[in-house]
Amino acid sequence: MYPYELTIGQALEKLNSKELSSRELTLSCLDRIADIDGHIKAFISVNRDYALAMADKADAAKGDERGVLCGIPVSIKDLLCTKGIATTCGSKILENFIPPYSATVVDRLEQEGAVILGKTSMDEFAMGSTSETCAFKVPENPWRRGYVAGGSSGGSAASVAACECLASLGSDTGGSIRQPASLCGVVGMKPTYGRVSRYGLVAYASSLDQVGPFSRDVRDCALMMNVIAGYDTKDSTSVQRAKPDYTQSLITGMKGVKIGIPKEYFGAGLDPEVEAVVRKGAALLQEAGAEIVDVSLPHTDYCVAVYYLIAPAEASSNLARYDGVLYGYRDMTAESLIDMYKESRSAGFGAEVKRRILLGTYALSSGYYDAYYKKASQVRTIITNDFKKAFELCDVLISPVAPSPAWKFGEKGDDPLEMYLSDIFSISANLAGIPGISVPGGFSREGLPIGIQLQGPHFKEEVLFRVAYNIEKSAGVSDKRPVL
Ligand code: GLN
Repeated sequence: MYPYELTIGQALEKLNSKELSSRELTLSCLDRIADIDGHIKAFISVNRDYALAMADKADAAKGDERGVLCGIPVSIKDLLCTKGIATTCGSKILENFIPPYSATVVDRLEQEGAVILGKTSMDEFAMGSTSETCAFKVPENPWRRGYVAGGSSGGSAASVAACECLASLGSDTGGSIRQPASLCGVVGMKPTYGRVSRYGLVAYASSLDQVGPFSRDVRDCALMMNVIAGYDTKDSTSVQRAKPDYTQSLITGMKGVKIGIPKEYFGAGLDPEVEAVVRKGAALLQEAGAEIVDVSLPHTDYCVAVYYLIAPAEASSNLARYDGVLYGYRDMTAESLIDMYKESRSAGFGAEVKRRILLGTYALSSGYYDAYYKKASQVRTIITNDFKKAFELCDVLISPVAPSPAWKFGEKGDDPLEMYLSDIFSISANLAGIPGISVPGGFSREGLPIGIQLQGPHFKEEVLFRVAYNIEKSAGVSDKRPVL
């Protein structure tokens, strides 16, 4: 086994016993990136010197100086600010943006000794489900040439699946951690809204965005959450609430846990292979002692419409700051101020971002606000109440993450609506603010990974970890790696 193939748990044992140094582990990942990233394209930038300096620092740390991730190489989605390191958000408009500070989650990783290897490719401003809207590099699914890695955190998921790093951070506004995790066969968690600080996360839709981890197993995901979760005075939406040790939830056996199957998630349009993997997951949990109950989320049909009003509306307001003056790309040929704004934004943003700005501006404009944004916000409350009612009957919901395994590049490119509809199972957790996790459940006949989604009540990440851990133990697929 090469060092880059280790889980965080395995690597920590070797690092702490001095069987392996962080420099060796980091070099192993950097060599792996040099070998395969020409085709995986998970990284927009790699900072070799910085990573090796961090690794040496980790190797020199003693006793209490050794944080809980001391010496572990990770990657970071390129919309989390990293002090002194370019943060592009996958957009030409921020191509040369160097943040003067780091996101709180990045600081926390570094305080605990993690080694940041580089920044990962993503859909422009996190808008998309395949990472194809990235202005620089489009990541490929490590399991199959010519297939998408998912999105918008496709690079983060691919980097972990392809063993270019041990874990990654992404963001999830409507599924962007869980969906690429499912398509790439890794674990990905979207925490409860407010559980993890958003400070230094470049905003897409502020009432939906959450930062979360990618990892190769459930324990590593819990370790990452132990580091990044918690209150932050710099984010007014982060919640002041004790943070558990999530690794304590990794208990074998499901006795006393009720698993709900939402009937609306198993209708037309769901790939039978995905359905089979999820149903098998539920059966395995039942064998482990869980009780299975049928539940209903009656307003599921409205989720896509509600999300694609609220997210673009918030985006159109958040993206107004990119005007060619304060940040990023500026058109130097324009003769008036208004032309400069126009030309900078026209050239700096890609087609999908422009589509969202148009949709959002329209939904917020006077005369339409009540009919669109306000109505969507009201339906959002109804959707949240559906979940509250379902959680009176069960502890966790089990469902697909995405309607199908990964698809070919370009397959949904011409039809934005088809792309939006593929988010049907993942966006409701963001609308309701509840936590969700994708855990590998099986493979399609073509050998593409299929994840199982678990969703729980607000701040109940522990129960998601417990159930995910049991799926991991019984499904027996999480140690499979793509052959590259
Ligand atoms: N696919 C969804 C969108 O394009 C979700 C993206 C995300 O979670 N950042 O908005």
